[in-house]
Amino acid sequence: MKLAGIHHVTAIASDPAANAAFYTEVLGLRLVKKTVNFDDPSTYHLYYGDDIGTPGTILTFFPWPNARQGTPGVGQVTGFAFQAPLGSLSFWRKHLESAGLAIADEGRRFGEEFIAIQDPDEFVVEFIETAEAASTPPARGTTIPPEYALRGFHGSTLSLEAQEKTGAILTQLMGAVLETSEGNRFRYTLGEGPARARVDLLCLPAGRWGTGGTGIVHHIAWRTPDDASQLTARNELVSAGLNVSPVIDRNYFHSIYYREPGGVLFEIATDPPGFAVDEPLDALGSKLMLPEWLETHRAVLEATLPPLK
Ligand code: ZN
Repeated sequence: MKLAGIHHVTAIASDPAANAAFYTEVLGLRLVKKTVNFDDPSTYHLYYGDDIGTPGTILTFFPWPNARQGTPGVGQVTGFAFQAPLGSLSFWRKHLESAGLAIADEGRRFGEEFIAIQDPDEFVVEFIETAEAASTPPARGTTIPPEYALRGFHGSTLSLEAQEKTGAILTQLMGAVLETSEGNRFRYTLGEGPARARVDLLCLPAGRWGTGGTGIVHHIAWRTPDDASQLTARNELVSAGLNVSPVIDRNYFHSIYYREPGGVLFEIATDPPGFAVDEPLDALGSKLMLPEWLETHRAVLEATLPPLK
């Protein structure tokens, strides 16, 4: 199989209104789908992305107001990075500071400038300048001037006890290549072009294992073009001895899940059908969207879910 990069990243948040305000108003992403957690319909599932929620730009959250705070550590995706156009970091620094956020980290990594902040739930969010970012059009209607607007994911960092086994899954099964390394950070790339995923495996042999909860990534999904390629991928993973879920219909894509040897939950998600399957592109995210089997509960759900603004 040859996966085409990141499809989406899903994480656990606490307060849905704070989450939505941060990712739409401060980061300039579009809320492309407002729905509920199909396994816990009294809570939201919020999807952010570019104009249409192109795979590779999609960040999704389960906001659980009463969940406990997780501890970041080994066995988790401990950071995700957005791609920013060259020369835009001075804008972002001012913009983030004026929103009351402190720059938590900054520097150069593999020759690229980055800054990092923590979101309202203490997720590490990185902004990395790339020469290629400007070749992707900015999302329309964002609150951020188009020349500075974020252009989808740059990649993500996985914290692991050791990187070899995860690296082997990435290269031997998933179509990634080991590009380079810097200290204990090993960079793999998955897919091609500006939207390829940079998958950094960070080796922390003495690191503490993370625990789930708010502020923690739940899983990372990789992109495949269609159902047929997903089934091929599933067969190859099963043949390699991995425990893979059946195909699950997530309304906006179809998914399979497996845990990689380093402890991180991986998903492979199809590009189709996409977010326009149940509402027009112009209206994405404006209305609470429910799967058919929950429509009869709409009135109750709308009355219970907290407003986002
Ligand atoms: Zn997912």
